Amino acid sequence: MSLAIDADFHGGNIIVQSLGEAGADLAIRQDSNGPWLQWFYFRVSGAGGRALTLRIVNAGGSTYPEGWAGYRACVSEDGETWTRAETRYADGVLEIRHRPAAEALHVAYFPPYDDRRHQALLARATAAGARGDVLGRSVNGRAIDRLTIGSGPRQVWWLGRQHSGETMASWWMEGALERLLDPADAAGRALTAAATVHVVPLVNVDGAARGNLRGNAAGLDLNRQWHGPDPAKAPEVAAVLAAMDATGVDLSLDVHGDETLPHVFVDGADVDPQATTAQIGGVERFKTALLAASPAFQTKVGYPPTYAGAEAPGMCTRAVARRYGAVGLTLEMPFKDSLEAPDAVAGWSIGASRQLGRDALPAVLAGLGVG
Ligand code: ZN
Repeated sequence: MSLAIDADFHGGNIIVQSLGEAGADLAIRQDSNGPWLQWFYFRVSGAGGRALTLRIVNAGGSTYPEGWAGYRACVSEDGETWTRAETRYADGVLEIRHRPAAEALHVAYFPPYDDRRHQALLARATAAGARGDVLGRSVNGRAIDRLTIGSGPRQVWWLGRQHSGETMASWWMEGALERLLDPADAAGRALTAAATVHVVPLVNVDGAARGNLRGNAAGLDLNRQWHGPDPAKAPEVAAVLAAMDATGVDLSLDVHGDETLPHVFVDGADVDPQATTAQIGGVERFKTALLAASPAFQTKVGYPPTYAGAEAPGMCTRAVARRYGAVGLTLEMPFKDSLEAPDAVAGWSIGASRQLGRDALPAVLAGLGVG
């Protein structure tokens, strides 16, 4: 049997340049209508027992080439359990070596989160008592789904995957929602009593389907549109903002992944020159509580206060903090691993992302000044 490589499925991204008996030269496809490239996800068939060498030859031209240093590619034989493969980056080429036992091997930048899982997450949440509605439509007409949990007076918003390739945000949502919807969980009960929690787990729904790293179908970075979204080119952001206008926002938590830094960190709106003492205090309390709850979280390494420069007012965290007086938080997880809580086999993983979601609940309460 000869090798075959395919990526024509939800979130798939790879271009086959040449195919051999035990390997291939590959290239990451640029985001549709956008300049970014880093996310890859493909299946190798007919691979069983072969010592594969998969070379991504345009890795040096990716958006974050420094992201390949110390990075190991994610591989799975059953599509459920993911480990890391031996990976080497040199001379602009990312070389992945792995000998799968099974005939098919899935290879990805990070464990993918496809539409089937997204639909199952929505169904589990609504079956457990969450309210579900559609805030609007993406550029390609897909639903922008919201889950609403709790009935408290404070308004909390969680957003995931404005950058579609940052799938750890989806795994984070699973952990956070599981705890929020568990009537036996004290932190979940406290948060749903204090606040109404609005969750948009998949903002860039078109980018997720297309296998984009960052951009939506119109080629925009959605996390630079929040100061004034074009309803035609960034309807995803316009829809969320309209819903936020209806509720107000006391705390927003925008969940992301970072290609380069091997750490979990927060980038808060406390660094905005316009931040109030109350907003700065909320960010500080969130960080202190997350430090206590999570062995992976740290506050020594993160973005400089000048991150995003002139584009900062278009970032969700900054814009929402200004517009509503909210405590604005961006939570970043690594693609590589957490140096604070390393995992030699899986690196930063599905399990670590879920656990961080669970650990975030007491920090959200603290950010609100509750508990
Ligand atoms: Zn991001």
